[in-house]
Amino acid sequence: MQINPTDDVDISFKNYVNTRQKSFATHMINGVPDYSFSLDFKLRQKINAAPGMFQFFKAVNKYLVPYMKQQYNLSCIAVGPNQYSDIYEMGQECARKLGIGVPQIFVQPDIAVLNAFTYASDDSAPIIVVTSELIERLTPGELKTVIGHECGHIHNNHGIYNAAGSVILNTATVGAIALIPGLQQVLKFVTTGVRWMFYSWIRAAEVTCDRAGAICSNCIEDVSRTDAKLGFGGAKSLEHINIEEYIKQIDQMMATPVRFLEMERTHPLTAKRILANKVFESCDVLYTWRPEWKMPDMNLISKEEADKRCESFISVLSKKKTID
Ligand SMILES: [Zn+2]
Repeated sequence: MQINPTDDVDISFKNYVNTRQKSFATHMINGVPDYSFSLDFKLRQKINAAPGMFQFFKAVNKYLVPYMKQQYNLSCIAVGPNQYSDIYEMGQECARKLGIGVPQIFVQPDIAVLNAFTYASDDSAPIIVVTSELIERLTPGELKTVIGHECGHIHNNHGIYNAAGSVILNTATVGAIALIPGLQQVLKFVTTGVRWMFYSWIRAAEVTCDRAGAICSNCIEDVSRTDAKLGFGGAKSLEHINIEEYIKQIDQMMATPVRFLEMERTHPLTAKRILANKVFESCDVLYTWRPEWKMPDMNLISKEEADKRCESFISVLSKKKTID
């Protein structure tokens, strides 16, 4: 009789929920993780305030997520203790650090795209998909940062908004969209304002999850190196980037209408992400998660101050200067 080695692994939804409920209260403030970027939460509140939106999201999630999960189950390799065991270990460590249940990770055979994404719904354990190119190009430390980032999406309940955003912004699989009843009617009411709100939220959510990546990383330098590789395909050219000079460049850009070109991007400009990482490196919340990184001579800022600084350059509509 052949024994399936993955039988010993409890990846059931029940186990996922039990683990999550046990440790969910740690580091939470009013149901939101203490490291979450303020703009992420504010924009979700704004999205929720639009009439009928939440019900619509629930419907989208109900149809889209199981469909997408089946797709990835079919076309990807499931990570486990005997399959990509190092990645399996990374997933466990990140989940343990953030206090969430262990998600199922899949490797998608794709040597052309550096990408990772998450699907999560209320009725099954979330999945994280990483492309094989990501494994080729990133160091193990950087890959762990990516998995930590994706676990951040789960920790912050981004799933339902991510699914809705992918439909509204038309980035979901066409086949999946066709399954959603009444969708075409709803999409008729989606104005440019709503689309921009979603783009703004998606970018803000990335800042939250880069912070989760930092919390889960082996060393803090991996976070910006990973963003540089994802944004530019390499990190070497950015090794000696003068952050202060770059901040000035962002300030100049923000003072002109050119800044609106960022409106329809799903991720903040790479250098803005790196800048947001730098701000979080000096935020006291990081060291409540990673006390071993704290040095006596560190000049730390509060979470409120860190968020204020990040909002000033992450929000595309803001004309505030990043440095005074
Ligand atoms: Zn993300």
